[in-house]
Order: sequence, then C-alpha cells, then structure tokens
Amino acid sequence: MTLLAVREEERVVVQGLDQQSSGEVVVFCPKCKALQTVQISSSRLMPTRKFFQRGAYIFHDCGSTQPCRLYTNM
Ligand SMILES: [Zn+2]
Repeated sequence: MTLLAVREEERVVVQGLDQQSSGEVVVFCPKCKALQTVQISSSRLMPTRKFFQRGAYIFHDCGSTQPCRLYTNM
C-alpha cells in the first residue's frame, strides 16, 4: 500500500489499490460521506453492496464520479 499513499494522522490514506493490496480497508465516499469497511483480496474488492471497483479505484453507487478514499492501517 505505498502507491498514491500519504500519511494522514496515524492512518494511511490511498486512492488506488496496488498489486499488494489485501485485507480490510475503510472506504469513504467524498460525495455523500458514506463510510464502510470492505475486504480487499489481491487488489480486488470483495463483492460489497453499494461499492464497486473500476481499475485501481473503488466507487460508491450514489453516482459519485470521485473515487472513494481508502483508509488502511497497513
Ligand atoms: Zn456516495
């Protein structure tokens, strides 16, 4: 989780998933402020209601054109 990652407080904030992305991440929709914990396995979003993956990015189904921000403790 180094690609596109910046430190924000004690958590790592990323916008895209890299090849090593796995585990639990918190996704945050910048449009409607929805926050949910999802599972990532080898950079693939596990099937999750209301969130979908497009390339390296995860989007919320509220119609946001901005990718969700991802918060991870890795
Ligand atoms: Zn949303």
